[in-house]
Amino acid sequence: MSNKRIVSGMRPTGKLHLGHYHGVLANWRKLQEEFECFFFAADWHSLTTEYENTDGIVESTYEMVLDWLAFGIDTKKSTVFLQSRVPQHAELNLILSMITPVSWLERNPTYKEMRENLSTKDLSTFGFLGYPVLMASDIIVYKATRVPVGQDQLPHLEITREITRRFNYLYGEVFPEPTALLTETPKVLGIDGRKMSKSYGNAIFLSETAEETSKKIMSMVTDTQRPRRSDPGEPDRCVAFTLHRLYTPEEEQARIVKECRGAEIGCVDCKKILAGNVVRELAPFREKRAELAAQPELVRQILEEGNSHASSEAAKTMQEVRKAIKL
Ligand code: SF4
Repeated sequence: MSNKRIVSGMRPTGKLHLGHYHGVLANWRKLQEEFECFFFAADWHSLTTEYENTDGIVESTYEMVLDWLAFGIDTKKSTVFLQSRVPQHAELNLILSMITPVSWLERNPTYKEMRENLSTKDLSTFGFLGYPVLMASDIIVYKATRVPVGQDQLPHLEITREITRRFNYLYGEVFPEPTALLTETPKVLGIDGRKMSKSYGNAIFLSETAEETSKKIMSMVTDTQRPRRSDPGEPDRCVAFTLHRLYTPEEEQARIVKECRGAEIGCVDCKKILAGNVVRELAPFREKRAELAAQPELVRQILEEGNSHASSEAAKTMQEVRKAIKL
C-alpha cells in the first residue's frame, strides 16, 4: 500500500462552477502528481439530504464527473469512481456505526447548522446524523493517510480520526489514522458579490459557452462606490477584480489597478479584458468537456474501471476488518 494515499469526494450537485474549480479541482489536479489519489462522487451522501427526491442524482453525478475529467483529473494517475458502486463503503459504515457513540455525532458542528439552514427538509434521520460515520468509512476503507481539507472541515476529519482510533483500540491496528492536508483556496465570489453558489444563481459554470461566461462577467458587480466613469475606483472593493486576480497576468493587473484608481479605465472596458482572460483560460478544458460529452460510453467505461479498482482495494481492507472483528 502506498503511504501517500489520498481520498477525497464531492457530493454530486450537477454542473460545477468556478468556485469548485478553484476550491477543489485545481487542488486535486496538483495532488495527483504527488499522491495516489482516489476521487469519488459521493452519491450516497446526496441521500442524506435529498432522500425525498432522488431523480436528479444520476444526471448530476454524470455532469460532475465530466467536469472532473475535462478540467484535469487524469485517470491514468487517479482513481475516479462512484461511491454507490463500491459496497464496501456501506459494509464498513455499518461496522463503524456499531462503535461510534451517538454523542460524537450530535456534537458535530455542522449537524445543527445544516438542520437549521435546511429547515424546509426533515433531517431528523438516522442517516443524516450518521453521515460522519459514512465519511469515515469512505476514507479509511482505502487506508488513506492524508485527506485534503480546508480549515472549516477539520472538525469532520477529527471525527474520522476518533472513529479510527476507537476501531484500532478495540480490534487491533488495522487502519492508519488519516491526517489533514490543509489546503488554501481562493475565495471565489459570484457575479453578485456573494459566495459563488448554484443556489444563489450567481455562478459561472465550467460547462457554459464563452458567450454565456462573457455575458455574466459583463454583469458583475464592480466597486459600488464608483458611480461614474470619471470617479476613481478601488479594485480592492470590486467584485470583478477578484476574478482578475485569478485570471489576469500580474502586469496587466497592476496596470488595471493604476488606471482604475486614476479613473483612466471604465468598468465596461475592464470587464471586457477580464472576460477575454477567463474565456481564454477555460477554452481548452471546455473543448475537452465537449469531446467527452459526445462519448458517454467512454465516460461510463472510465467510471467502470475506477469502480473496479476502488472495489478491489476496498475489498482487501474489508478482509482485514472482518478478520479483526472475528466475523
Ligand atoms: S475599473 Fe475594473 S477594477 Fe476598477 S471598479 Fe471597474 S471593474 Fe473594478
